[in-house]
Amino acid sequence: MNILVVNCGSSSLKYQLINMLTEKPLAVGLVERIGIQGSILTQKVEGRDKYIIETPMKDHNDAIKLVLDALVDNVHGVIKSMDEINAVGHRVVHGGEKYSSSVVVDDEVMKYLDECIKLAPLHNPPNIIGIEACKKMMKDTPMVAVFDTAFHQTMPEEAYLYGLPYELYEKHHIRRYGFHGTSHKYVSQIAAECMHKDIKDLNIITCHLGNGGSVTAIKNGKSIDTSMGFTPLQGIVMGTRSGDIDPAIVTYLVDELGYSTKEVNDLLNKKSGILGLSGTSSDFRDVRAAASEGDHRAQLALNVYYYSIRKYIGAYFVAMGGADCLVFTAGIGENAYETREGICEGLECLGIEIDLEKDKVRGELAEVSKDSSKVKIFAIPTNEELMIAKETMEIINNK
Ligand code: AMP
Repeated sequence: MNILVVNCGSSSLKYQLINMLTEKPLAVGLVERIGIQGSILTQKVEGRDKYIIETPMKDHNDAIKLVLDALVDNVHGVIKSMDEINAVGHRVVHGGEKYSSSVVVDDEVMKYLDECIKLAPLHNPPNIIGIEACKKMMKDTPMVAVFDTAFHQTMPEEAYLYGLPYELYEKHHIRRYGFHGTSHKYVSQIAAECMHKDIKDLNIITCHLGNGGSVTAIKNGKSIDTSMGFTPLQGIVMGTRSGDIDPAIVTYLVDELGYSTKEVNDLLNKKSGILGLSGTSSDFRDVRAAASEGDHRAQLALNVYYYSIRKYIGAYFVAMGGADCLVFTAGIGENAYETREGICEGLECLGIEIDLEKDKVRGELAEVSKDSSKVKIFAIPTNEELMIAKETMEIINNK
């Protein structure tokens, strides 16, 4: 069985065709600059040269058509016909409160996804366009929506409600949703396998640290709290996002400093975090390099970043009544061992002891805790595409 995994952004489309017997991708591709000049598709197949198509693509329909052509191409393709694609799994950022698991897309699901646009105005529209484009090109192939928010729908009320008038939750659905669910779920399952234990018997803290980042408390296989909130702006300090701040700063910026709401939004989402603190870059490698050359603000940015994550780990340790393992994943969590060490410094009081020798790994699965550490620490490469493909297969097999 082959599953096509599609992740649509506003002007980009990432895809993987995954063979579910081997759980390996047959082809991995990226379409960029959809709807703007210089549209380009790049497809990689193991053991072959990259296949690059540069041709105008006015919208996502053109992009999907090109993706399917590339997959069945006589020379560069990996399948003979589209019949060899058994289903399509779509990454959808926001599934609101209705979906606590993946669903086969039908008219009712599409209608609800439209309603969710107001909750994720930047992310859900391109996701929906991607589903519609695939439905047009592949009329008889099942489409499955896999939500970033779904894994966190198990949070109890005390974790997802804010200290706001209850009517705002009842009438306007203002609550914590949480994101990166597919990644948190995937790495927690791998951690349980590494520990040779049933996930139902484990308390796991997962740290997805990429340009965006979130920390999740997973008790007995279920998310019971997560650092992102109503939007992906809340939580730990991120590449360009502020993470947690006093909400009164927003009104201060508007009332006292004359910011417009758009400017506040831009400031908090695009100019804050590691970029804003360091004044150097949002990319972790640049900031680390600057810090190692003695740049005070770069070092300060790293310290604030580590501290913000450490606080969540402490909070979730308490929320679960202890933890059996701590997992680091995504661009920074998988690769930047200096970050894992910076975060774990001071967590020895919780029985979290990192082994500085074992920890010197980048981009590979490794247990990096000391033998004496009560809490096992893992670096685990995430694989959201495989998780989406697995969920898609499960759903269509149980249909
Ligand atoms: P992501 O959003 O998951 O792609 O992660 C992007 C972040 O990962 C950026 O801040 C990169 O600097 C960081 N990153 C990627 N590779 C490395 C690496 N080898 N060492 C340190 N940081 C890395």
